[in-house]
Amino acid sequence: MKALVKRHEGAGGLELVDDWPKPTINRDEVLIEVAFAGICGTDLHILKGHWPCRTPVILGHEFCGHVAAIGDDLVDLSIGDRVVAGNPAQTCGVCRHCRVGNPFMCKQRISLGFMIDGAFSRYVKVRRHAVHRIPPDVSMEEAALCEPMAAAVRALTERTTVNAGDRVLVSGAGPIGLLCAAVAKAQGAAVIVCGLGADRRRLECARELGADAVINLERDDLRQTISSFTNDEGVDIAVECAGAPSSLAVCLDHVRKGGTLLQVGIYSSPFTVDFSRIVMHELQVIGVYGHAWGTWERTLILMHNKMVNVKPLITHKFPITRWNEGLDAIFRGEAIKVLLEPV
Ligand SMILES: [Zn+2]
Ligand SMILES: [Zn+2]
Repeated sequence: MKALVKRHEGAGGLELVDDWPKPTINRDEVLIEVAFAGICGTDLHILKGHWPCRTPVILGHEFCGHVAAIGDDLVDLSIGDRVVAGNPAQTCGVCRHCRVGNPFMCKQRISLGFMIDGAFSRYVKVRRHAVHRIPPDVSMEEAALCEPMAAAVRALTERTTVNAGDRVLVSGAGPIGLLCAAVAKAQGAAVIVCGLGADRRRLECARELGADAVINLERDDLRQTISSFTNDEGVDIAVECAGAPSSLAVCLDHVRKGGTLLQVGIYSSPFTVDFSRIVMHELQVIGVYGHAWGTWERTLILMHNKMVNVKPLITHKFPITRWNEGLDAIFRGEAIKVLLEPV
């Protein structure tokens, strides 16, 4: 089968291979015929060599598809079922984190799409416990965004509580930031999204997703907008999604005393933060990383109930043979989410 394979560690080495073997499944595994697989920021980090991976490996961890084969031990799935599957692909099953339902924290976690073969190919195999059925009225294109949306659902429904009427600032307008804005909006918050001039397309998307205010930090006055939205108090929750020190500074500047900072973005290197402000303003700082089985179920329910519309994020679709055009569209800032289709 055709597969998009990272050949070696470090930068580069991505290539479309024509004759990668089709996976064979064990008794507890499911073979999925991929319908769509999204390109994620993590894939770009892996491509540049910033993120560890075991090579050679098929990339791609955001996907949906149809059940193509079922292991002998499994009775509750049928061929043709529309499904998505979460990470991690393998965990120990017996450590504290696995047992309390946070398998992404398992020390023996092996992740699909960078440690073992992922979904940029016609077939991918997963374990049954990771599989979720897609509700009938959720399209395959929408379902392909389950994984990034699960990160937003984790942040804004599991790691903190958003109450109707809360004022939420999302700093960083990439796919995860936009989905955080949409999930906060679904919970009745007033949402302000800020980004840079280069995010023009993404900031337009934030508006489509229902953001109450959209700020280009290089042109607009964020302080004035937040002041008018919050009666000069600052926002209840600031969500840092850019993974940039300047974006964290924006969040710390504009979260109210006693408010919450959700840290979703990942920084490329350590930097200095003034913790006195966190102490003196009695801020809650909460890290967000990974998602659990229940997060995915909640994500699919939000899609099914039309509480969050992910369609505006899908700007490009390419057959997998044109993967490099998909990457170019992202690097040029034209694309928000690119879906690849196997051929
Ligand atoms: Zn991802
Ligand atoms: Zn474990």
